[in-house]
Amino acid sequence: MARYTGPVCRLCRREGAKLFLKGDRCYSEKCSFEKRSYAPGQHGQRRTKVSEYGLQLREKQKARRIYGINEGQFRKYFKEADRKKGVTGENLLTQLEQRFDNVVYRAGFADSRSQARQLVRHNHFTLNGKKANIPSMLLKPGDVIQLKERSKKSVIVKTIIEGLKQKNVPEWLNLDAENTTVKIVTLPERENIDIPVTEQLIVELYSR
Ligand code: SF4
Repeated sequence: MARYTGPVCRLCRREGAKLFLKGDRCYSEKCSFEKRSYAPGQHGQRRTKVSEYGLQLREKQKARRIYGINEGQFRKYFKEADRKKGVTGENLLTQLEQRFDNVVYRAGFADSRSQARQLVRHNHFTLNGKKANIPSMLLKPGDVIQLKERSKKSVIVKTIIEGLKQKNVPEWLNLDAENTTVKIVTLPERENIDIPVTEQLIVELYSR
């Protein structure tokens, strides 16, 4: 299944929550969800009763859209999370956070996960000193991402670097803004993952 490339603000309105898919715009008054917080489309403002299945489905879609992942890939993450020891829902979120593009975003090297994905695809980073450009790679504690020297000449990247010191980086990452590197200290626990998703509903959906 192809990756969604349509208007992303519609996705927030569909899910009834801000998914923060557009970087700075999401924190400004230009945010579409602030102006129209109902679902898109002709019948978006109708009040409808949502079934249990509907609730579970929306929660899964919300998580998928936040991380920009297609259904097939998301299902694979779920299977792996289910196979591992521990709480399946939490394992799922931890894996999503371990993605290369997500770590780049969390470290403040990009304003949104889609921008992070693009920067990774365009070879702006090294992983443990080696070339790496696959956004879906799952990183582990001890891994170090570094922004390449030549990338610092790009106007977009320059702006990002200037703002690095002001970024709130989660405690499971260690950012060295001077050297534009970030190290994964440990894997995130559920309380370190600030996404508005009830993961148990996703587990229930896939367990039907
Ligand atoms: Fe969602 Fe951001 Fe668009 Fe607001 S600006 S609707 S939070 S993607």
